[in-house]
Amino acid sequence: MFEVTITQTFSAAHRLKESGGTCEKLHGHNFTVEVSISSPALNDAGMVIDFKIVKEWTGEILKELDHRYLNELSYFNSLSPSAENLARFFYERISAKTKIHNLGVTRVTVWESEETRASYSETFAPFEKI
Ligand SMILES: [Zn+2]
Repeated sequence: MFEVTITQTFSAAHRLKESGGTCEKLHGHNFTVEVSISSPALNDAGMVIDFKIVKEWTGEILKELDHRYLNELSYFNSLSPSAENLARFFYERISAKTKIHNLGVTRVTVWESEETRASYSETFAPFEKI
C-alpha cells in the first residue's frame, strides 16, 4: 500500500461543550490538519495522487474554517467542534473526492498544538481483504 500525506494550517476559535474544563471558554488554536491518502497502485506518473490536488481539496475546506468561530458553522450546530470532530469533518469531505478517483483516505489528524492531536479513520472498503 502506498500513502501520501499533506499538512496545512488554519486558525480558528471554538468552545467545547460541556468539557468540564477551561476548553468551555472561548479560545483559539493555530490548527494543523494532516491528510493521508492511500492506494494499492500508482498512476502513470508513479504517484498515488499529486500532492497539489490533495492540498487544493484541503484548501477548499480551510476556506470555510480559517479565522472562523467554529461553533457557528452548521456542521457543529449540535456537535462539539473538538479536534476529533474536526478530523471527521475533513475525513468526510475529502473522502467524497477520493472515492471518485478510487483512492482511500487513510486518516485525518488535527493538531491543536505540537503536543496534542486527534485522528479519524475508517476502513476503505475496496482495500479490505476477504
Ligand atoms: Zn481548543
